[in-house]
This record gives sequence, C-alpha cells and structure tokens, in this order.
Amino acid sequence: MPTKPRPAPAPAVAAPAAVRAAAILAGLERLYPDADCELDHVDPFQLLVATILSAQTTDRAVNQVTPLLFARFPDARALAAADPLEVEPLIATIGLFRNKAKSVVGAARALAERHGAAVPRERQALEALPGVGRKTANVVLSTAFREPALAVDTHVTRLSGRLGLSASDDPRRIEDDLTALFPRERWGFVSHALIWHGRRVCDARTPRCEACGLAPHCPSAFLHAKGAGRGAAAKAKKRSDP
Ligand code: SF4
Repeated sequence: MPTKPRPAPAPAVAAPAAVRAAAILAGLERLYPDADCELDHVDPFQLLVATILSAQTTDRAVNQVTPLLFARFPDARALAAADPLEVEPLIATIGLFRNKAKSVVGAARALAERHGAAVPRERQALEALPGVGRKTANVVLSTAFREPALAVDTHVTRLSGRLGLSASDDPRRIEDDLTALFPRERWGFVSHALIWHGRRVCDARTPRCEACGLAPHCPSAFLHAKGAGRGAAAKAKKRSDP
C-alpha cells in the first residue's frame, strides 16, 4: 500500500533556528512585553531566598509563604541567626521544606560570613552558597542585577524542545543553545517570557496551539493537541534545526 507523503513543513517552521529565534523573540516581546520573575521580592536577598524555595514548587506556593518568612527574618543577618527548625513551620506548605529551611539558613549564614550580609553579584560566589545552583544564580543575576544570564527551568526546557531551539534535555546545554541564538541583552527576558508562555499557553500536557502566537514558528504546533504522542513531537523536533 503506497504511503502518504508527509506534507512539507511551512517555510517559517523549516527556517534555520537562528531565523526562527529572531521571529520567536519578536513574538515573545509582542505577547509578554513585561515578562519578569514572578517570585515576590523587594531586594536581592528576598529573591535569592524565594528562588531557593521555588525548586520543584510553584512560584504561587512560594509567594504564599514568603510574606510571613520575611516579616520574621527580614534580612540575611536575621535569617543567619535562626535555627532551621524555626523556619520550617513558616514554609511547611511547600515541598522539601525541611531541606529548604536548612538551605536558606545556610545561604544566609554564608552571606553574613563571606559577603557582609549582601548578595554577591558574581556567579562563582553565588553558586558557592548552600542551596544555590546555576539556575538560581541565573535568576538572581538576571532579575536582581540585570546581568546577562538565562535561567533554564522546566518550562524553558520544554519550550526549547517544542520550538526547535535546542535538541538537548540537559539544562546546561539548553542554556548554551539559547544564549547562542538570542542577543545577550535579551537573555533574561527570553527566560522569563518562555516561562510565562509555558505557564499561560504551552502547557506540558495540553498546549493551546490554537491560541498560540508562536505557532507559525513552532515545529511542534498542533502535534500535542492532536493527541500525537512523544514520537510525533520528537519527529517535529528532528525536523527543526536547533
Ligand atoms: S504552537 Fe503549541 S507546542 Fe508550539 S509553542 Fe505554541 S502552544 Fe507550544
């Protein structure tokens, strides 16, 4: 039985990743001109703590616990003097709260001991703090200090694959792929805007491709929505040129 020829991808989708990246950036700027970090904070210390707390938890859940936490421990010196057992009940509604209580107190102690209770703006110093990895450092650098840094979380990972911007599942390699495709001064925006798009439109299970302003540039458009499995998405990813 003759096989049905696969339709050629639309020109915009088949374009090289660099060309699509420019169109995707323009789309993100149009859709989310104010995209920014959604963790409530008033200074770098609060952002650092909130970002540590946000691992494997929603920003909304973190925003529900941080007002009381910061009322009780308003700065690094106050939190450094706390026992993690005092912090636990204040953050008990979020996942991994016992480990996170230790991490935020540990980070505050390191800030007090090594950095005069201020949050450093150097990547190496940030990543040396307890509970702080590359993603958290990127969030703090790009959001608190407006330094060029691109944080890769679960939304950025998923959208990078669907949009054909990276063929990797490894956050470090995705970061390298994206920073090669987008202008340095827009790295922070790209991360926040992809996160916003992932939360609002490109859901992990049910992406709303019919309402997606990036669909003309997306090799995965309508594949998930039509009930296509992982195989179809993978083929779409292969068709694109990351
Ligand atoms: S077209 Fe669909 S899969 Fe592609 S980015 Fe938009 S919602 Fe996600």
